[in-house]
Amino acid sequence: MREGIPDPDGGADPFEEILENRRKAPKLLFIEPRLPPSVEPIVDDWTRKVTGAYRASRKANYAFCGFHECSCGALSDTTDHVLPDGTMTNSLCVHYVAYHRHEVPEPEREKIRKLSADSAEPTSLELHGGRVVNRPTPAPIDRLRQQYEDRPRK
Ligand SMILES: [Zn+2]
Repeated sequence: MREGIPDPDGGADPFEEILENRRKAPKLLFIEPRLPPSVEPIVDDWTRKVTGAYRASRKANYAFCGFHECSCGALSDTTDHVLPDGTMTNSLCVHYVAYHRHEVPEPEREKIRKLSADSAEPTSLELHGGRVVNRPTPAPIDRLRQQYEDRPRK
């Protein structure tokens, strides 16, 4: 007998309900790039627009037991982010358009074109995702983050 698990006869399982809502929600940039990231982040109108949209999102009121790690090593946070129009996205959305632009498929590009958010300048955290503490072997994103943070500023 485990505590905290809702009684199956006690109405809808809240977890099932969350999964169902997640399944139905429109989604933006839930992609899994396979190729290496670009050598520099592309920070253009698209990246700024996705950044603005991401900042207008709120965190979903649930969390997963774990992070999503991009193939380059960038780490997401543990929850979904919901845009004002109900579209669901994730904390790596800015990273994907900036570092994996060539792997953003056309349907996702179309959604980005339609975003109505104000543009915003991405931060290093938004571009590179969370940092893995004591990663045994540095991931590509670790070097890119360092390079970005050490770049000469205007
Ligand atoms: Zn990546």
